[in-house]
Amino acid sequence: MYKVMAVNCGSSSLKYKLYEMPEEKVLCSGLAERIGHDDGIFKIKFDGKEDKRVLPIPDHAVAVNLVLEALTKFGIVKSLDEIKCVGHRVVQGGKYFSHSVDFDDESEAIIAKLIPLDPLHAPAHLVGYHAFKDALPDVPAIAVFDTAFHQTMEEEDYLYPIPYEWSQKYDCRRYGAHGTSHQYLANKAIKEYLGGKPNSRIITCHIGSGASLAAVRDGKCVATTMGLTPLGGVMMGTRTGDMDPSVTDYLATCTGLDVHELYDVFNKKSGLLGVSGISNDTRDIEAAALQGNERAILTSNLFARRVADFIGSYFVRLGGADMMVFSAGIGENSPYYRRLILERVEEALGLKIDYKLNESIYGGKEAVISLPGSSMIVAVIPTDEEVMIARDCYKRIA
Ligand code: AMP
Repeated sequence: MYKVMAVNCGSSSLKYKLYEMPEEKVLCSGLAERIGHDDGIFKIKFDGKEDKRVLPIPDHAVAVNLVLEALTKFGIVKSLDEIKCVGHRVVQGGKYFSHSVDFDDESEAIIAKLIPLDPLHAPAHLVGYHAFKDALPDVPAIAVFDTAFHQTMEEEDYLYPIPYEWSQKYDCRRYGAHGTSHQYLANKAIKEYLGGKPNSRIITCHIGSGASLAAVRDGKCVATTMGLTPLGGVMMGTRTGDMDPSVTDYLATCTGLDVHELYDVFNKKSGLLGVSGISNDTRDIEAAALQGNERAILTSNLFARRVADFIGSYFVRLGGADMMVFSAGIGENSPYYRRLILERVEEALGLKIDYKLNESIYGGKEAVISLPGSSMIVAVIPTDEEVMIARDCYKRIA
């Protein structure tokens, strides 16, 4: 039995889960939030108990020490020596990583080089890595990349039609994201729903505040919606998703904002929030739509249309599909949005959906929501990116 730690360092937060492997038992989980603030929040859950403290958390190093202190203080481990590997989620691996690797000087240098592609998260990943390395110098660390699963895409799926020399010189291309989640969902679908079928064709829909779809053939990603960065693809909580590139030029002229300011608006003030003017959270928009708010109805329909169009595109891309999976915050919890999406594709794809059952699937339930005569299985599967990190940690040390 090995204890391994899965860590996700965001710009101002640190999420963690301690596992016992290979049982995949969660020993504790928690979150340090508002890192960099005097009123930071530190939470830990273990054995059905919960502890929360508000205290200054000036940086990720302090957050890491809070995590490690809590592990011994609450008796989750007797000694920190019990932790055998730390797995760090890294959003952007560029073209360099098609699987998890040791987090060491070499991989650190590449991750640092990729900061321009992910200025928000990459610096935090590096700080988190160093904080754990300082605290646990003899424990191996690995980097698990959100982009790795998508590295099997072929040129015609990942190249942009820009001057080819730029694609080469600047590595400007589609990388995708949420790869760990898409891989988890596809693996589970193949193993538990498709009986290990060879050449299986699966459309995975990770739809949360960030949202992406992937087309997966025989367990390998052939296409995904996010692009150079997570701004591309479907409409999201605050992000636009794909648009005609001339929108930037036109809006720069209209608003007087420069490209960087517009990029910020496209990332943080667009999507569900920008169109609805209500919220980036589908719960608020759904509530307003159900009360007849026209902007909320339009927002919901726009969102569903954009997801549905990609589902149709991936159905063609895969030459049909054996299964479609809904996951993440919206995909797992919102029967309303699943229905809006499915209604837009069911006739063309020959789906038969149990909409009554759909209504009852939320809050972490896993279920098949298609009926026996459906052309493919449609299921809701809660995603688990952390367990994928823990599995890679276990592979590294076992
Ligand atoms: P995620 O990024 O996967 O955590 O998804 C978060 C988003 O899922 C929220 O911003 C909401 O739009 C949506 N959502 C809908 N219902 C729920 C729910 N019951 N719990 C959490 N998120 C929900």
